[in-house]
Amino acid sequence: MIEKPKPSDLLDALDPETLVAWDKAYVWHPFTPMKQYLASDPVIIRRGQGIKLEDIHGNWYYDGTSSIWLNVHGHNVPELNAAIEAQLRRVAHATLLGQANVPAVVLARRLIEVAPPGLQRVFYSDSGATAVEIALKMAIQFWANQGQRTKRYVLGFTNNYHGDTLGAVGVAPDPLFHWPFLDLLPGHPRVPYPYPHDRLAESLEAVEQVLQQRGHELAAVIVEPVEGAGGILPAPRGFLRELRALCHRYNVLLIVDEVATGFGRTGRLFACEAEGITPDLLCLGKGLTGGYLPLAATLTTEQVFEAFLGEVEERKTFFHGHSYTGNPLGCAVALASLELLLQLIPSLPDKIERLRTGLAPLQAHPFVAEVRQAGFMVGIEIVADRSTRTPFPYGAQVGFIVARHARRRGMLVRPIGSVLIFMPPLAATEAELDEMTAILHAAFEDALPELESLAQTLL
Ligand SMILES: *Cc1c(COP(=O)(O)O)cnc(C)c1O
Repeated sequence: MIEKPKPSDLLDALDPETLVAWDKAYVWHPFTPMKQYLASDPVIIRRGQGIKLEDIHGNWYYDGTSSIWLNVHGHNVPELNAAIEAQLRRVAHATLLGQANVPAVVLARRLIEVAPPGLQRVFYSDSGATAVEIALKMAIQFWANQGQRTKRYVLGFTNNYHGDTLGAVGVAPDPLFHWPFLDLLPGHPRVPYPYPHDRLAESLEAVEQVLQQRGHELAAVIVEPVEGAGGILPAPRGFLRELRALCHRYNVLLIVDEVATGFGRTGRLFACEAEGITPDLLCLGKGLTGGYLPLAATLTTEQVFEAFLGEVEERKTFFHGHSYTGNPLGCAVALASLELLLQLIPSLPDKIERLRTGLAPLQAHPFVAEVRQAGFMVGIEIVADRSTRTPFPYGAQVGFIVARHARRRGMLVRPIGSVLIFMPPLAATEAELDEMTAILHAAFEDALPELESLAQTLL
């Protein structure tokens, strides 16, 4: 009798046609217009090595998005694999509810050692959105635990992105993406982000005005040091420092969302370091595990933590947690990734300069409005008309035209709207960065005829 293969044996055995058919039959992809996806020729990854990924047809691609902003050291990294394998032989998961596990304890201490000074407590979760959700709830309950029930709004910035759970969407609603949910949201106040940089004073004045008028209703201000999903818009120098001062002055907590910028992305371990500030709550995710496992963390101060101490019946407890909070495998690989990253940090400034030089010629492309860079975060804004900055219509999906050419040339990149996002893993060598920027140049050249004919139809 022939036994049916176990599903786990299929992972190396299935042919590409079956995998594509099953993907299209069963998987619903995130942030993906599925009607168009079903008609497309999808990339299905089989394995990774270094900063490249191989698809089921045997094509290798540079991971030009760091697997959507996560990857730090590349794929299949011996040290990271070893950390997970060693932990696997100890225990894969044990809850953090009312008890602890060894990697969660050790990682918490390590994070506090390297985080901005003054942060003292680590609350784990499993995605950037949950790290933000936790920060928002902690901020509101911090005041509530002290009898201040009116302080329950959070001031955010237009075009910031904090994740896709309803709480995170509540502080960063996007009318294009979140239209079905807008009337479910609490109506948190929002002010303009300081980009372009000459809007710094205007942005800070708007913050101060809200703090003055509604400080008694505000639990916190939440901000990204670089607008990531907003199109890679770095805040000007001094912005975070001024925000920090304003929050102190008006007695409001400061939440800095470093889910994207944390763990070396901007060239420093944390973007807060460049401004010498410590937020009351710091949200971390993405690069925390080097892009290996879903782990996130919300760091806070002893002052915030102490507001949650009380007798059981006072209900000052933070009643929040997730099944996989503090997952030992994630914590073990995060520890290993952080040690590797600390060795990598000194090499980052040269690589960032190399990237800047390599990208500079794109500035001359007839449909590129701006090449924006914050360390290893790059956004290339594509417009129909450079002089007037007229965008292509949303439906034209111009970023995907360039991304398609890049894929054919051996690199995976992904646009957000009309901004092509390029996020190489931090471990990329200067030679690899050169190869990746060369592919980008070629892809933009390839796209020229299509962009030209699209622009014609707009005139
Ligand atoms: C990606 C991101 C999030 C959400 O993280 P997920 O892990 O996707 O939930 C939150 N904030 C910022 C700044 C991000 O870039």
